Amino acid sequence: RASVAASATVPTEPRRSARPAPPTLVAGQPFVNAPDTDPAVEASREWAQQIVSQETADRLAASVPATTVLASPAEVDVVVARAAEVAESWRSTTGAQRREVLLTAARLLEEARTDLVATMVHEARKTVGEADPEVSEAVDFAAYYAERAADLDEVAGATFTPEGLTVVTPPWNFPVAIPLGSVLGSLAAGSPVVIKPSHVTPRCAAVGVDAIRRALVEHGYEPDVVQVVSADEGEVGRRLVTHPDVTRVILTGSIETAELFASWRPDLDVFAETSGKNTLVVTSAADLDLAVKDIVRSAFGHAGQKCSAASLLVLVGNVGRSARLHRQLVDAVRSLAVGPATDLATTTGPLTVEPSEKLLRALTTLDEGEHWVVEPRAVPGTDHLWTPGVKAGVQPGSWFHLTEVFGPVLGIIRVDTLDEAIEVQNAVSFGLTGGLHSLDEAEIDHWLERVEVGNAYINRHITGAIVQRQPFGGWKASVVGPGAKAGGPSYVAQLGAWSDDASVP
Ligand code: GLU
Repeated sequence: RASVAASATVPTEPRRSARPAPPTLVAGQPFVNAPDTDPAVEASREWAQQIVSQETADRLAASVPATTVLASPAEVDVVVARAAEVAESWRSTTGAQRREVLLTAARLLEEARTDLVATMVHEARKTVGEADPEVSEAVDFAAYYAERAADLDEVAGATFTPEGLTVVTPPWNFPVAIPLGSVLGSLAAGSPVVIKPSHVTPRCAAVGVDAIRRALVEHGYEPDVVQVVSADEGEVGRRLVTHPDVTRVILTGSIETAELFASWRPDLDVFAETSGKNTLVVTSAADLDLAVKDIVRSAFGHAGQKCSAASLLVLVGNVGRSARLHRQLVDAVRSLAVGPATDLATTTGPLTVEPSEKLLRALTTLDEGEHWVVEPRAVPGTDHLWTPGVKAGVQPGSWFHLTEVFGPVLGIIRVDTLDEAIEVQNAVSFGLTGGLHSLDEAEIDHWLERVEVGNAYINRHITGAIVQRQPFGGWKASVVGPGAKAGGPSYVAQLGAWSDDASVP
């Protein structure tokens, strides 16, 4: 079932604060989301300026090791053997004890905010504006899963037993929140972890994992409850994933990788959040000013390199012919500041990696019926910096309609009715995020009843899920495994075994 992620017509924004001044997390306090840095405050701007400087880039390059050298299969065995040595000390903790460690991790991650943001800017080519909320999300995962760990002790009539060793294989697009969220969730559930960071963003993972390991040490546990290993999808990765001591893999990546793991080891417990091809629907009952803002943010934030990004805009009825919407959208897209992540004015930064074949096709070719409303172009002399593109006339059933491209291209499909829009949306094999812009309650209800996505957003951008408020997860081909959402009440509880009669709380 789709869940309502934002209440109708009321867009929600996280609270903001100035930096630097990490909030104090005290055990026993109810969970509150960590505030993002407020760019309107002068001290925050100075902080951001320092982050994007060459001096900071050099400092990080010198101080944070980038473990891009592949381990050998024999080294994988050593890491897994070490995990087995420390496993019992962690598995035998109570949820309440793990809660203390995770709350400390939340504090240490908050204290590491500057380095985490800086590493994302310089290594992953994220803008400060995109990287800063990602740190808030990682802190949120720690603080929220801390409480969920403690909950595990309190389920009447049922006992939770941690499982064995978990391998975490995250992507490069959210190089802090996704790896750390998966690691923290596993720790909360009492599992030791081996993380294999993306080879594109090893430093981002290293800075975050370091904070978590220090939290373990602060409470008298072995830091090797969490270990990092550098592997690929060849021999080394296969050795890791198929190691008999590994009981679970938490993957965020492509459906192909999930299938590859399953082919290596059919009995492996794979929990995966995979791809998306996400649609924002706008009806004639929409607030068009709000819609344009959310379309642009959803499609072009982090240059569209989000599983959650809007790739299709479906305009219903009159809206498809609205000159005003057309003009506003074109103006908004053209006014995006395209530039390097190290320029604080940049709103659309470069691609993190060389564009894939699919993305290049989407950026450079038109299929039948399509035309450019805003034609994308590669900025000469840059490393994969593209101006954003908008193509209209995308045909239902076409290649662009059904394919995830993962970059700064938005396609427009025009339909006559909301039902047709829902049909277009549900024709996609994936079901990750989706949005509706409409102020009509009947339309909202109608859409919510039928749309097949994990995260359904109303009158809000469709990226940037917030822990506890908008737990994040997919449906259909966007998810493998039991699928309790990240940042939601059952995420931790699904990661262990429950005694017979219990159902996951
Ligand atoms: N959780 C992210 C969001 O809500 C998306 C994560 C992803 O791209 O995998 O935007």
